[in-house]
Amino acid sequence: MSAFEHAGTPEGVGDTRPPALATDALRGARITVVGAGAFGGWTALWLLRAGAQVTLVDAWGAGHARSSSGDETRVIRATYGPSRTYTQWTDAAFGEWRALEALTGRTLLTACGALWMYAHDDDAYARAATPLLAEVGRTLEVLTPDEVRRRFPQFSVDDVRNAYFEHGAGFLRARLGCQVVAGQFVREGGQVVQAQVTPGRVARGRMAAVRTQDGTTLEADQFVFACGPWLGRMFPRLIGNAVLPTRQEVFYFGTPAGDPQFEPERCPVWLHSTATGLSFGIPGNEGRGMKVGDDVRGPRIDPTRASRAPSARALAWARAEIAARIPALAHAPVAEARTCVYENSPDGHLILDRHPAAENAWIAGGGSGHGYKLGPLVGRHLAARIAGQSAGIEAFTIARLASMTPA
Ligand SMILES: Cc1cc2nc3c(=O)[nH]c(=O)nc-3n(C[C@H](O)[C@H](O)[C@H](O)COP(=O)(O)OP(=O)(O)OC[C@H]3O[C@@H](n4cnc5c(N)ncnc54)[C@H](O)[C@@H]3O)c2cc1C
Repeated sequence: MSAFEHAGTPEGVGDTRPPALATDALRGARITVVGAGAFGGWTALWLLRAGAQVTLVDAWGAGHARSSSGDETRVIRATYGPSRTYTQWTDAAFGEWRALEALTGRTLLTACGALWMYAHDDDAYARAATPLLAEVGRTLEVLTPDEVRRRFPQFSVDDVRNAYFEHGAGFLRARLGCQVVAGQFVREGGQVVQAQVTPGRVARGRMAAVRTQDGTTLEADQFVFACGPWLGRMFPRLIGNAVLPTRQEVFYFGTPAGDPQFEPERCPVWLHSTATGLSFGIPGNEGRGMKVGDDVRGPRIDPTRASRAPSARALAWARAEIAARIPALAHAPVAEARTCVYENSPDGHLILDRHPAAENAWIAGGGSGHGYKLGPLVGRHLAARIAGQSAGIEAFTIARLASMTPA
């Protein structure tokens, strides 16, 4: 299954709408958040806004190169097949990213639209999304291949059977977004610490402290572990292989000099679905050119030790892919390359839950190739849960993982 195209719905029991959060709900609580990626950074910010004293700890810092959030860009789109929860959460996330831009003066979201191209007949995912998008006031426009040719002549659509254009979708500046969230967290009174942390012992249903690499203990009333691809290593028995880190390479192809047709003003984010997988591209990237990536899961990777040097195999794939999708870039030079890491849960859904043995420890992860955009909502949901203002979502529980084979 493509991480972009989840077949299952995360609808569970109860209300899964984006939760509200009272500003003084956590007044006086001391909370440590481990991990300053999209999930941990936003969680720390919301906890702070709910009145808690929050420390955000990361081994290398917000949006660093080895984290899942550390690439330049990530797609934001509310097309989520039959899932009302993800559609509503993403719709709300657009607003939160925009609010952060307004607060900080930084541009994070480019709404160039998203073009979905299907090279097979099964476009059920897009069709199921259409009414759910309409519920939140968003439009997924159906396009014929000829209409795509006319509106976006950059693309070859010879193999395309059905196409859709999501208005208002686009991309987020991912690495920068994490840094801006962490910066805003500090401005609003949060404390950032650079340290590698080990979870503390759980006694009588609570965790008292976490330990840093130099033996210092950090005590708190609540702990959030948002450790991305490191989550399984942090909790080998509880999570283990249920968060599988995989190698995902992306390449930025340089566009012709003076040619604006591959800039976001003229070119949308694109997703190309075949019967066996899904590729995607993001235009612009602050002069880096057209980014191309493969959503098919790569080999397992050690997120700390693995070299991020690009592989010849992935480059050959990306070169063939860009030639097929955008013929004008068939011979474009590689301007940059990144090796990213997916943090796959077995069913592709998030993991947002309380530690079953420690009532004051919380786990956030399993972004599975689609989590970045949801950071603001992950954070709000967790903060509301810790404040006792929101229930858990069944599809995001740790318990569900027990019956599943690792991804
Ligand atoms: C190639 C690729 C394409 C993607 N495309 C999209 C997309 O288009 N749209 C989208 O929404 N999402 C996308 N994603 C998914 C998205 O990037 C991730 O789901 C998201 O960034 C995960 O954020 P995170 O905070 O959980 O993890 P991370 O960003 O990895 O953050 C975890 C942090 O925890 C820290 N940490 C871990 N262990 C410790 C420890 N022991 N002590 C201290 N700190 C620790 C790490 O240093 C790290 O900074 C994509 C991912 C990849 C790899």
